[in-house]
Amino acid sequence: VSSSSLTFRPVLDRIAAEIENMPARGRPADYIPALAACDPRRFGMAVAELDGTVYGVGDWRQPFSAQSLTKVFTLALVLAGGGDVLWEHVGREPSGNPFNSLVQLEYENGIPRNPFINAGALVVTDRLYTQTGDTVGTLLDFLRAESGNAQLAINKDVAASESAHGDRNAALGHFMASYGNIGNPVPVLLDQYFRQCSIEASCADLAVATGFLARHGIRADGTRLLSRSQAKQVNAVMLTCGTYDAAGEFAYRVGLPGKSGVGGGIIAVVPGRCTLCVWSPGLDERGNSVAGVAALERFTTLTGLSVF
Ligand code: GLU
Repeated sequence: VSSSSLTFRPVLDRIAAEIENMPARGRPADYIPALAACDPRRFGMAVAELDGTVYGVGDWRQPFSAQSLTKVFTLALVLAGGGDVLWEHVGREPSGNPFNSLVQLEYENGIPRNPFINAGALVVTDRLYTQTGDTVGTLLDFLRAESGNAQLAINKDVAASESAHGDRNAALGHFMASYGNIGNPVPVLLDQYFRQCSIEASCADLAVATGFLARHGIRADGTRLLSRSQAKQVNAVMLTCGTYDAAGEFAYRVGLPGKSGVGGGIIAVVPGRCTLCVWSPGLDERGNSVAGVAALERFTTLTGLSVF
């Protein structure tokens, strides 16, 4: 933490006090035991400024299961490595269906609606595997470099649990493979995907690692990952598709590109200004962190910052 600018510090303190008094905080994800055991009263929030200065409140340094937050980074890496050809394999429309839905895929010839529902994320993971030979290794290297935290790692128990309860994702993978939309053996893809979901990182790590999206594509070391247009596109897909089938509600309440995960994390971008990460494991019925969405809503309301 540098002392150069801690602009939003008082806002974060106020939000933390408000969240402390929130009566209902939802329920942790229960599809695997490792997540079900999380305490819904945990809450952390971090802001990263464009120069990487990061500060936060509550459990902002506590690692948690990143889950679907990783889908933002794999999307960015695939676009960086392979460009627009990705969009022949996955769409960019909100789905209005649960994240693990199979139903739309049949009507769309195995081309998932967007890169953030599970089917679309599997396509992205598959393509990154083809590009690099190691999706998880590439992703971990990137996250470690961008966050400055060389300790970032996979939680092996969570990965094993994902795999043991992975029938739905396996079905999605095989179904898309039957349409020729998966390039690698499905078991290889699933192993990569489950380990990707099981990466643990803190609000501080993830807010800083998301910085390239606030810097219009520029990485922490000053090099370019994405073109300005690509950074805009990733932010746009986050805004329209990043919070499961509640993206309309999230845009309405928060007004920022955001991506949630069932571990209770949400990352959000104020392009040209800062990035945010909140974590609280209690989810609403659509899979978004109750306290996390509330905190981001308060942040944009109190600061007046949003993309609108
Ligand atoms: N591992 C979870 C799954 O694929 C991730 C879901 C999520 O965070 O949306 O089912």
